[in-house]
Amino acid sequence: MPSKTVLIAILLFSAGAMAAAVAAPPPIEHPALHTISREISASRLQATLQQLVDFGTRQTMSETQSDHRGIGAARRWVKVQFQDISKACGNCLEIVTPSKIISGERIPKPTKVMDIVAILRGRSDPQRVIVMTAHLDSRVSNVMNATANAPGADDDGSGVAAVIEAARVLTHQRYPATLVFGVDSGEEQGLYGGKILAAYAVAKHWQVEANLNNDIIGAIAGENGVIDNTRVRVFSQGTKSNETLRQARYRNYTGGEVDSPSRNLARFIATLAPRYVTNLQVQMIYRTDRYGRGGDQVAFLNAGYPAIRFTEPNENYRHQHQNLRTVNGIRYGDTINHVNFPYLAKVTALNAVTMAALARAPVPPAELRISGAVTPNTTLSWQPVAGAASYLLRWRDTTAPQWQYSRWVPLSALRHEAHGRLAYSLQNIVIDNDFFGVSSVSADGYVSPAEFPGFAGSFRRSPPATSVKH
Ligand SMILES: [Zn+2]
Repeated sequence: MPSKTVLIAILLFSAGAMAAAVAAPPPIEHPALHTISREISASRLQATLQQLVDFGTRQTMSETQSDHRGIGAARRWVKVQFQDISKACGNCLEIVTPSKIISGERIPKPTKVMDIVAILRGRSDPQRVIVMTAHLDSRVSNVMNATANAPGADDDGSGVAAVIEAARVLTHQRYPATLVFGVDSGEEQGLYGGKILAAYAVAKHWQVEANLNNDIIGAIAGENGVIDNTRVRVFSQGTKSNETLRQARYRNYTGGEVDSPSRNLARFIATLAPRYVTNLQVQMIYRTDRYGRGGDQVAFLNAGYPAIRFTEPNENYRHQHQNLRTVNGIRYGDTINHVNFPYLAKVTALNAVTMAALARAPVPPAELRISGAVTPNTTLSWQPVAGAASYLLRWRDTTAPQWQYSRWVPLSALRHEAHGRLAYSLQNIVIDNDFFGVSSVSADGYVSPAEFPGFAGSFRRSPPATSVKH
C-alpha cells in the first residue's frame, strides 16, 4: 500500500501530466493554413482579371447602364462572383453594397460610389472582423476621363481578383471571427470607397482587427529594371493616426513609435510568408504608404483600426494612371500582359493565410500594461481575452525589426491580480533594454499578432487613453 503522501504525489503528477497534454506551446506550423495556400489558383485569378479588363473602363464616373462596359457592369459582375461563391458554400456569405453619393474635387457631378462587400460571419466572435480590400475603379492620365479605355489590370484589377479568389478559398472553412471581402470604388477620385467601408464598419460596431489592403500586387518587373517575384511590400504606419498629443508625449518618452498595431500586423504577416507561401518574403516598409501617395487602408487607419497595404516590390510607372499609347517605342498603360499570375497567386495566398491565421487566433490581449522600472524584472499584465488558452510573451532589441525572443506561458503559470487581470514577470530581463509585447494563443495553437503595451500598441479602436503620471 503506498502511503497517503505518495498517493497524493501520484495524483498530482498525473494531473500535471494531463494539464501539459492540454496546454502545449504553439506548433511551428498549421496544416490548415498550408491547405488554404495551396488552393489559391493562378488560372482563376487570370480568368477574373481578364473579365475585369474587358469592361473597358471601370472609372468611378463611367457609365452604369451598359452590361459590358463601365463601373456599373463591373460592380454587378463582382456581386455575381460573390453570389456564386456563396452558393457553393451553402449561402455562407452575406453580400452588402454600402454606397454614398459623392461630389468632390475629382467628382464634379454628384456620383453614387458603391462598394461590393461579402461577409463570412464568425462562428463564436462575429463582431471581431478581418477585412481584405482592393479597389475596382481604374483611371488613365487624366483622372477625370470617364470614357477612355482604362484596363486597370495591375491597379487594381490584381487586388480585386485577389479578393474574389481569397473569398472562394476561405469559404471552404469556417472561423471564430468574421472575414470581410471588400471591393471598393472611388479610390482614384479620393479614397472614397475605403471611407465608405470604414464608416460602415464603425456604424456596425465592428472590432476590425486588421484591414489588409491590396493595391498593385500583380507585376514583377519594375521601371527601375529589377525583376523580383520573391517579395511583396507591406506598408505599415509607425504611430496611430488618432493619437492625442498627451499620448504622443508618453510614447515619445517610453517607446512605441515603431509598434503600432498596424506595424505588429506587418510583423505577423512577415513571419507567415516564408512558412506558408513558397519563395515569398515580406519587405516591411515603415511607412503608411508609398511616398506622398495613399490607398484605401488610410481610411481604416483614420477610423482608428489597424491596417496595412500590400504592393508589389518594384512598380512600373509607365503602366500606372496612363493613357494607352506608344511613344518612342515605349508602351504605356495598365494592360494585363504585365501581370504575372503565379506571383499574384503568391500574394493572394499570403492574404488568405493571414486572414485565416488572424481569425483562428484569439484577439491580442486587452488593456496590456508593462511595469518594472528600477527592478531587474519586467512585468506584463492584461485582461484575459475570449478563446485564449495561453499567452506568448515576446521581446526584442529596441533596434530589431522583428520579435526575437519569447516565453510561452500557460494560464496555470500566470498570476491572477485584482480586477481579473493576468500577470507574468520575466525574471532578470530589464525593462529598459528591450521592447515587449504579448500574443494570445488559442487552444489549438494559433498565435495572435503581438501587441505592444498601452494606447500606442492597442489593437482596440479608440480605447480609453492611458492615464499617465508625469
Ligand atoms: Zn490603386
